[in-house]
Amino acid sequence: MIDALPDMKGQSRRHVLRAASLLSAGAALPFYNEFAMAQDAAERPRGMRGAMPPDAVRIGSNENPLGPCADACEAIMKIAKYGGRYSPFNEQGDFIKAVSDVEGVKPEFIAAYAGSSDPLHRSVLAFTSPTKGFVMSDPGYESGAGSAKFVGVKVTRVPLQKGTYAHDVKAMVAADPNAGVYYICNPNNPTGTITKREDIEWLLANKNKDSIVLLDEAYIHFSDEMPGSDLVAKEKDVVVLRTFSKAFGMAGIRAGMAMGRPDLLAKLRPYGAGMLPITGLVAGTASYKSKGLVAERKAINAKVRGDVLEFLEKKNIKYIPSVSNKFMMETGKPGGELTRALAAEKVFIGRTWPVWPTMVRVSIGTQAEMDKFKIALSKVMA
Ligand code: PLP
Repeated sequence: MIDALPDMKGQSRRHVLRAASLLSAGAALPFYNEFAMAQDAAERPRGMRGAMPPDAVRIGSNENPLGPCADACEAIMKIAKYGGRYSPFNEQGDFIKAVSDVEGVKPEFIAAYAGSSDPLHRSVLAFTSPTKGFVMSDPGYESGAGSAKFVGVKVTRVPLQKGTYAHDVKAMVAADPNAGVYYICNPNNPTGTITKREDIEWLLANKNKDSIVLLDEAYIHFSDEMPGSDLVAKEKDVVVLRTFSKAFGMAGIRAGMAMGRPDLLAKLRPYGAGMLPITGLVAGTASYKSKGLVAERKAINAKVRGDVLEFLEKKNIKYIPSVSNKFMMETGKPGGELTRALAAEKVFIGRTWPVWPTMVRVSIGTQAEMDKFKIALSKVMA
């Protein structure tokens, strides 16, 4: 199995063995759980771990309550009976073609995955080592730090900029000039804030030449920001991650992708098995081809978000302005206390981040769900 590992230069024996243990365990299994979900579950009262009550308001994991679009559901129904075959009608090829057409990126610069957690972990394994660290924002989406830690790679956390809550790209390079991966989540999770294109370009121009920028665009479709596909087409040292778990409402269906130069994508390949669920692929293809879908979902999310943030404003509750499907709000006490109090009202919000222990992350649900959130919040804060 160790033979299957890509370029191991500069990687210690321990690192190699850890990575090899992953391969023999089957892909990136030890990392696959969404950290946030695990912590959200832990913060729920004992009797409520596991299945949620049917009338629960689930606004803790940045899911999309609208679910997959009608075209995606129809595609899943149609392909289901052919599920005895790994690839009945070239589902992966169709998926890559649909993405290529929309993103303006050549097919060989696109690799399909069952979500974006998988290529995220692979990128950490492929581009970091004991001598080439992982740099991320604080607060940030911690999944990549989990895999880095697992293989003994140094993780450097750099505070978001004051006021804008953008990644501080200059401080990220200064903090570890020799890193292997600079991870930018845009819009960021948990803050829902943007790092401007000029900062991402600065990072690409000023990082060490053996590193990559891992640009995680899980939430890009909720924002007006320019996506990173053109950076991929221009063959920069960038791997862009996308998921169908957010705007496209397919978290449980599983589809995602990595976009990057073929030589970068080739480095991700050995860290897991190749076959993908055809249901996720056809639903992803149908979603990408569904005209107006992204604009419609972005508008719905923005409207519901605007309403709930206005409510917080009226209540004098501090929050971070977000362009995504979640926001951070101040609770004035350890955030877990509010999380538990709301859970008792069957409203399940997200978690705190160690750097901001009094803030909690709340995802945007439907208008009806956010109305229940507002009522429960007023009650528990009274
Ligand atoms: N990246 C970010 C920033 C996320 O928030 C998530 C999930 O919440 C993921 C990646 C992984 O999503 P998935 O594996 O469902 O595609």
